[in-house]
Amino acid sequence: MDARQTPSQFLATPVEEIRGIGPARAPYLHRLELRTARDVLFCFPRSYQDMSELREVSQLEEGVMASVVGVVEEVDFRPLRNGRTLLAVLVRQGTQYIRCMWFSQGFLRDKYKPGRRVLVSGAPKLQGLRWEFTHPRTQMLADDEDAPTGRILPVYSLTDGITQTQMRRMVQNVVEKYSEYLEEVFPDELRKAHDLLPISEATLEVHFPTSKERLEGARRRFIYQELLVLQLALCWRKSRLETNCTAVPMPIDARIDARITRLLPFALTESQRQVINEITADMGRDRPMNRLLQGDVGSGKTVVAMFAMLLTVAHGRQAALMAPTEVLARQHARTLADRLAASRVRIACVTGSMPTGERKQTLAKIQQGEIDIVVGTHAIAASAGGSDLPFAKLGLVVIDEQHKFGVRQRAALKGAGENPHYLVMTATPIPRTISLTLFGDLEVSTLTGTPPGRQKVNTYCVGDERREGWWNFFRKRLAEGRQGYVIAPLVEQSEHIEAQSVTTLYEKLSEGELQGIRCGMLHGKMSSTEKDEILTRFEAGKLQVLIATPVIEVGIDVPNATLMTIEDGERFGLAQLHQLRGRVTRGQHPGFCCVFAQPSTEESQQRLAAFTQSTDGFELAEIDFRLRGPGDLLGTKQHGLPPLRMADLVRDREILLKARVDAQQMLLESPELATQELAKLRRMVLVRYGKTLDLGSVG
Ligand code: ADP
Ligand code: MG
Repeated sequence: MDARQTPSQFLATPVEEIRGIGPARAPYLHRLELRTARDVLFCFPRSYQDMSELREVSQLEEGVMASVVGVVEEVDFRPLRNGRTLLAVLVRQGTQYIRCMWFSQGFLRDKYKPGRRVLVSGAPKLQGLRWEFTHPRTQMLADDEDAPTGRILPVYSLTDGITQTQMRRMVQNVVEKYSEYLEEVFPDELRKAHDLLPISEATLEVHFPTSKERLEGARRRFIYQELLVLQLALCWRKSRLETNCTAVPMPIDARIDARITRLLPFALTESQRQVINEITADMGRDRPMNRLLQGDVGSGKTVVAMFAMLLTVAHGRQAALMAPTEVLARQHARTLADRLAASRVRIACVTGSMPTGERKQTLAKIQQGEIDIVVGTHAIAASAGGSDLPFAKLGLVVIDEQHKFGVRQRAALKGAGENPHYLVMTATPIPRTISLTLFGDLEVSTLTGTPPGRQKVNTYCVGDERREGWWNFFRKRLAEGRQGYVIAPLVEQSEHIEAQSVTTLYEKLSEGELQGIRCGMLHGKMSSTEKDEILTRFEAGKLQVLIATPVIEVGIDVPNATLMTIEDGERFGLAQLHQLRGRVTRGQHPGFCCVFAQPSTEESQQRLAAFTQSTDGFELAEIDFRLRGPGDLLGTKQHGLPPLRMADLVRDREILLKARVDAQQMLLESPELATQELAKLRRMVLVRYGKTLDLGSVG
């Protein structure tokens, strides 16, 4: 290091100035977003190759990780029936062969050239007489290159033009020269209490582990660090919201309670009462409520929201109810208008596709305080930023069916004038570790059980041979006055093809199995007026069957609809299937859900088995997370937080909970993390989350 440089300046050395990289190789690193020595230090391996287990083919054991060196003999690439592709590479070692397979990874096909030496690592399976590796890790070897042995080697993400070996050398260079200048962010005491490796050592070990145990130790340090910083950010935000924000208190009393209860169409269940008590207690305070209401599909969340909104109106304030789709927003608006017809509560619906004139008029009314309850879509809420929805005196915001949205979207409405109370509702229960993160700044209420008089729902998962039987049954129930849904096959990413698929199915059914039945269809290409009209007719019983896309609006509530048909069931996730089934478990008649499926993987078989065996959304959610394994979908990407590099919210549950407690403790002791000891951690929190979570910037 240059004597005039500080460690942090030294770590900021551009990669092109680093020996072993230089201007020639720097562009490759740039493509991986690696610009400085520090970036390279924190470019953690994607995985590891355990060379201590180099094997002969004859020594392989079923399911036991091993590495094999051989020569590429044959490369076969072909499409499969289900739209995926198969890349199969035959590798010879002496007189023995192994087969490597990759699904839907066609981009790998040019990597394997017959005659080239390759190192294959993975867990083999014996298929007949031949060992197969599915999605193994591989490394091409030069003819005279020894397979690296006796070590755990890092595997980095690469970009075209550099090899794994080159990348390893570059990283090694940087690690050896720079890692000792990294600054420790943890206070000593904390690091020792958790038995964490110091930063420089952890960095060395994570790139070039000296043993499995040391590698684990290094990973644990980074995972803890990552989760602690995340939890500090979330808890900090929460305490800021609690201390800095005031809200208008809207306490409940017996008189208001009685007035509201009279407006409700039925007696509340005990659980609904309980949850309402939690909510009204929050709303009675002069701090904004920030509450997540979890309740299974059909558990009766809407009426809870209605109660909270009416309490708001009773205090002369406005309430906003935000739904995920326009159709659902309008349904909510209609239901509310019906139920409150006898009262003086004024309701308006604002959606993106409203005619401009009408929209202007409605907005003006909202602004003048002439509307009490505004129903709209998440999209409107997110784009509001204070200007689009000009509330005169917003007291409460309810967000319905929020599962894709996280902390950040809520921030948007926060900025809209004064601080409203906040109620977020979701039917997708989330394991606690996840909710701590997605909704780490919220209190949680849980609605249990179902409203009284509910019938059971019967679920069948069958193959094509049962179609005729199902349609006979379907028609019989329709004749008895029930209604039903048919969900068209899942089409990804194209509204156009999706619309086509619904239309085709509609035509096929109305000339076939559902001939003479009054059917309507619903898909994303229709205008919202069209959608609305169809749905209203379905609600009124004028249509008997609704043929719709898989995204048939979550939350739609037509109690007389008791029949659900799902095509291509194996392609749906558990949560989605459960949501769909939830459409037919809402009334006094038993529901029937029939899934046509051809599950080809073990995972999809288990998924569908779980679906037929359980109707408990919470249980299904747990199974879903287990089946999908850690990592999938739970990345923080989809809820607007920067992605985690190493931690996994499910796998690292224990560490997460520990980090949460530590974060709370730290913030309790120094509310703004303002002590000298915590200065570095504080800075790290701000760099990473300051902007997304409105915590401020580094200064
Ligand atoms: P979700 O929680 O899925 O949003 P909803 O609020 O749409 O569920 O309620 C599902 C159905 O149950 C609706 O038809 C609603 O009218 C009915 N419901 C809700 N609470 C009760 C209750 N306490 N008694 C009778 N029916 C109820
Ligand atoms: Mg709902």
